[in-house]
Amino acid sequence: MEILDGKKAAQAIKDELKMEVAQLSVEGKKIPHLAAILVGTNGASETYVAAKVKACDEVGFKSTLVRFDADIPAVKLMEKIQELNNDPDVDGILVQLPLPKHIRESDVIDAIDPDKDVDGFHPVNIGKMLQGLPSFVPATPHGIMLLLEHFKVETKGKHAVVVGRSNIVGRPMSILLSSNSNPGNCTVTICHSHTQNLKELCLQADIIVAALGKPEFVTADMVKEGAVVVDVGITRLEDNTRKSGFKLKGDVQFDTVAPKCSWITPVPGGVGPMTIAALMKNTFVSCKMKN
Ligand code: NDP
Repeated sequence: MEILDGKKAAQAIKDELKMEVAQLSVEGKKIPHLAAILVGTNGASETYVAAKVKACDEVGFKSTLVRFDADIPAVKLMEKIQELNNDPDVDGILVQLPLPKHIRESDVIDAIDPDKDVDGFHPVNIGKMLQGLPSFVPATPHGIMLLLEHFKVETKGKHAVVVGRSNIVGRPMSILLSSNSNPGNCTVTICHSHTQNLKELCLQADIIVAALGKPEFVTADMVKEGAVVVDVGITRLEDNTRKSGFKLKGDVQFDTVAPKCSWITPVPGGVGPMTIAALMKNTFVSCKMKN
């Protein structure tokens, strides 16, 4: 069994970006600028946004963090997005999800200029991705593809089972894995909460991507020998023995599943760092389009 070490792969991507940014500087060109919007004080969202801002510092990007109280009227948030859309210095805009209930997420996603939608959630980018055209690909599935590429995991002709069909992870993941690309060229089965024979389907999988948000859902009896297992799940479970008061759990029961795998991602240190690396890559590409 080998570890798909997301920290290591993400570092390699960030090191490369750092060099490219330094080169832009030398040439007197524009430096990438990511603007992040955080609404409210959700603990997990605070952590994710802080990690994204830190990654910007590491690679030499500019970053702007815009914070709003949880009760901000939707119209105010939209105004801010328009302002950032119109700001020629801003290359990427991300609005950290989830948003408070009174704000419709799809309206917010639609309001972002598709050319600055480095999270890749805008319908224009999703549509282009479906057609195999250049586009911003959602950061988590993009990061997983970069991870498979980094460790040269063979995907061609394999049967991939994606558990979860959200717009930000499962569904785009299924499209990327089935694309005529490398990594890609898988035969994909996509599962959700109404799938009846999930265990049997997982047992047929050469590659399992678990993205359902149910801690330790995938157990050893669901995984065939030699499978590649990618664990997207991140759930905070209370743990009073830790300073933070919680520990992170993935959707895969790592200790029992890992011995059966050819490759497996850890949680933390697998998909999480790759999501951020992919976001940095998207922001860089957005900046390059303007340079
Ligand atoms: P969603 O809640 O949006 O989607 C979960 C999906 O899992 C749904 O499609 C749901 O089915 C399906 N599902 C739920 N229960 C079952 C079940 N028992 N059997 C089969 N399918 C099931 O979650 P996200 O896609 O946003 O996130 C999934 C996980 O990934 C979460 O833990 C999240 O924190 C994590 N995540 C991690 C990231 C990272 O960077 N590492 C980034 C983004 C997310 P249905 O559609 O029928 O409801």
